[in-house]
Amino acid sequence: MKFLIRTNIFEDETLESYLLRLANANGFTKFSLFQNSLKELFSREISKRRLSGALPPSLSRVNLYKAKNSSVFRVRALKLIEQLANIEKRSLLDISILRTNLRFGASRTLSRNGVLFPKLILRDDSCTIPVCPECLKQSSCIRFDWHLKTVSYCHLHQVDLIHHCPQCDAELNYIKNELIDSCTCGFRLADASVNKNETAVAVENESESLADFGKCLWFSKHKGVALDAHDFILKLGSYFKAWPQNYLSELQGFERKAQIIQSQPFNKIAVNDIWKEQLSIAKCASPVRYKNAVINVIADYFIELVDRYPASENQHANIADSLLTLIEASLLMRTTTEQVYLLVEQGYLDIAVNIKTEQYLESHIPVFFLRQVVELMQSQGVRGHDFNRLTTVW
Ligand SMILES: [Zn+2]
Ligand SMILES: [Zn+2]
Repeated sequence: MKFLIRTNIFEDETLESYLLRLANANGFTKFSLFQNSLKELFSREISKRRLSGALPPSLSRVNLYKAKNSSVFRVRALKLIEQLANIEKRSLLDISILRTNLRFGASRTLSRNGVLFPKLILRDDSCTIPVCPECLKQSSCIRFDWHLKTVSYCHLHQVDLIHHCPQCDAELNYIKNELIDSCTCGFRLADASVNKNETAVAVENESESLADFGKCLWFSKHKGVALDAHDFILKLGSYFKAWPQNYLSELQGFERKAQIIQSQPFNKIAVNDIWKEQLSIAKCASPVRYKNAVINVIADYFIELVDRYPASENQHANIADSLLTLIEASLLMRTTTEQVYLLVEQGYLDIAVNIKTEQYLESHIPVFFLRQVVELMQSQGVRGHDFNRLTTVW
């Protein structure tokens, strides 16, 4: 059996948009009716018990990252739809959003067509999903871009996306309304008037930065600018014009302040207290440590700091003798915490005095000297490589 009307996937189209168009083209006014008719067909390949998990009746639950235990069956259901619609194998999987076991800091990492992005950057699809009326004039489909909080205008047409219906002011959400190019009041969204977006004209080249989702997430957390702020791209663009010198100056600012307010020897002060969570915020810049541009800058800065503050002969501690936690040390060395344990056991890393042996295993207690971690990092040429097996090369 094939669908009577087959339809191709548009470039950058979302899975929900395609399935909705396929259902509508084949005469199903509601997605649930389409899903119901497929259940019969699928029952040969997917057990009855799994059918509604494989293809849920609600469009809002259909994407792969939303399937919990049934994701294997969801993949099977999508493959069957690919056959019925006579589209290329894996083309629905390519436009699906998948879960991964990686993290941008604390944010879960999703993947679409091989591109990793933090879940945090996706708009909540129970709220508004804006559209570009000019794009809708060209093709009646929803672009994945419009699901991203950081995208407030269309890069192709340089106009603002519209969030509300110009006729009845209702929030636009094609998943909830099951309508792609019109509002529930009947207004054709392609007919909406558009505003030229001046930022889009001015920062045409910044779209590249926006595609670097880790950079966006890190900047948002570091500078406290909301991902969906109207001037996000402007602020992001102007910050990264001066990168990394501006960030290095910020790190030096923390350093100067710590020298002024120092109340105890530096070998008893946590790096985190001096540089105010910079290492933990840096985690969200990339789910892959050795590709993390912020960690690279912090590591280079610490190398230079250790050079500026050599170990003192009279055992007088300086700022380069401040203390890192297990997690921070593993982050800087771009390796696992288990590998850091091994370095301790093999005598390459010392534990700060006053720390009981059982405590150094607790990842949040500052126990490792910054100087030693930096020197180990340098001796291994950590940068640019995946050092998950650091000790094997010793
Ligand atoms: Zn457009
Ligand atoms: Zn309306």
